Amino acid sequence: MSNQCKFWDCFENISPIHTFCGDHFDLLQTGRIDECPICSRGKFTTSFMCNDCDNKSEEPLNSGQTKLSTIHLLAAVDDLILMTKTETANWPADKQQQLDHLQEMANRVRNELKS
Ligand SMILES: [Zn+2]
Ligand SMILES: [Zn+2]
Repeated sequence: MSNQCKFWDCFENISPIHTFCGDHFDLLQTGRIDECPICSRGKFTTSFMCNDCDNKSEEPLNSGQTKLSTIHLLAAVDDLILMTKTETANWPADKQQQLDHLQEMANRVRNELKS
């Protein structure tokens, strides 16, 4: 069974036990590649999302549906934060920071929905 490199525009065939082709693996190791937040394929850290998703996001969205989905997502994030709040005191700083970041992002999205 063949496998394809996870980078968004790479079609290199690789061994099933690998995630990226050699070139993209090297870039991952040097911190120049991370995951696209939308499709979770590999992308360069310099861009917010992969070009593919970036192009798609320029197409007109069904804004009503997107808003509803976002509200559901926010509710799930709130639940998660509320649930973990009691345990985070014992968490290492980097984990706490990540949770704070999530909360901050959720608040930002919430404010955007209001406007
Ligand atoms: Zn590749
Ligand atoms: Zn993407």
